[in-house]
Amino acid sequence: MGNNRHSESNFRHYETTNRTIILERCWFLYLKRWMESIYYFNYIYFMDRQIVHIDLDSFFVSVERLIHPELRGKPVLVGGSSDRGVVASCSYEARKFGIHSAMPMRMARQLCPEAVIVKGDTEQYSKYSEIISEIIGNEVPLYEKASIDEFYIDLTGMDKFFGCYKLATELKQRIVKETNLPISFALSTNKTVSKVGTGEAKPSGQKEIPLGTEKRFLAPLSIRKIPMVGDKTYNLLRNMGVAQISTLQEMPIELMQQVLGENGTVIWKKANGIDNTLVMPYSERKSISTERTFDKDTIDVKALKGILIGMTEKLTYQLRSEQKLTACVTVKIRYSDFNTYTMQCRIPYTGLDHVLIEKVSSLFDKLYQKRMLIRLIGIRFSHLVQGGHQYNLFEESVQQIQLYEAMDRIRKRYGKDAINRAEGMDFHPHHLNAFNGIKT
Ligand SMILES: [Mg+2]
Repeated sequence: MGNNRHSESNFRHYETTNRTIILERCWFLYLKRWMESIYYFNYIYFMDRQIVHIDLDSFFVSVERLIHPELRGKPVLVGGSSDRGVVASCSYEARKFGIHSAMPMRMARQLCPEAVIVKGDTEQYSKYSEIISEIIGNEVPLYEKASIDEFYIDLTGMDKFFGCYKLATELKQRIVKETNLPISFALSTNKTVSKVGTGEAKPSGQKEIPLGTEKRFLAPLSIRKIPMVGDKTYNLLRNMGVAQISTLQEMPIELMQQVLGENGTVIWKKANGIDNTLVMPYSERKSISTERTFDKDTIDVKALKGILIGMTEKLTYQLRSEQKLTACVTVKIRYSDFNTYTMQCRIPYTGLDHVLIEKVSSLFDKLYQKRMLIRLIGIRFSHLVQGGHQYNLFEESVQQIQLYEAMDRIRKRYGKDAINRAEGMDFHPHHLNAFNGIKT
């Protein structure tokens, strides 16, 4: 008993000190945020930003050609070969037949029967994506990994020492030299104009859109080139008689807002070469995670695995709703003696439950060697990139993907715990006594 009271007072002491530290930090953070907002205001409105957009040309096809040189010069389609598969990437030779990515494979095959169809290899694509991230990370201070093969780089301020266009050109040359993959880029004052620029520079090209020429550069292009314009918006605008960006530029912003709501305003701004969004620094440490502490320590492996499945499902749902993929899984165990162990492994980019559940489970098996009572388990997904739409490109099991999509729709509508795997049920709160950890 005496011992208990002692530790309780210790705990209180710890808590007070902690609170003081937190208060001090709050004040500091407030000041920091205030200074940052002044900086960003200046940065956006008064500095000429220098933003590079880099994109690998038909990335999946190019990687396939590195591994299988016989594919060079041929029309190549990468994607699911089943009738319901879609084209994930196609070579420029295939594009001449009117094929584009996201087109149903069956239609692509009709357009170009001689095309070589390759089932994707996420492992290789992830490997090259990491190599390119590393090269860029070594060369520039701030970059955003927008997808598996696409990057934004902020070179603002670098022009004082070295021309930004020259810097970007050298970076491109370095990537080509080290990976042998074709790449294109564009440099302008914002992300939208640079992204459109890269599209115009392809393949294996580069382009600079100097300050003040953004509107002129965009004017003759099709409205489809604006990053936010998908099929639905495109058809709507076409029905209004809008085909070229120049027509959008001349329309009043209010009309766009009336027709397309808030999106209309953003599209109008983009069409006029206005985009203040920042390059978001890419960090491999950026992650999502979940953990659970048990009230009663446990060695029930079956129950633990069920909880891990439930936790993985929760995180994969989060990944997919944020349109993200992960390339690194970490499992954490804390034993009843408070010793904590983690184990992680790199994986090809994925957002699929069954792939991640298997990884988590095998990591847990490797990690849980001690057969001691467990106090806490946790899972973390890191090395996240945008590109949720790419998660299903090479999956053969179409039914599985459709199942996930259906489950996600149900969760979106009826709440996160509306539907789950039977094995993971132990994890979900409404099947547990409040905060009781494991069902007994
Ligand atoms: Mg690309």
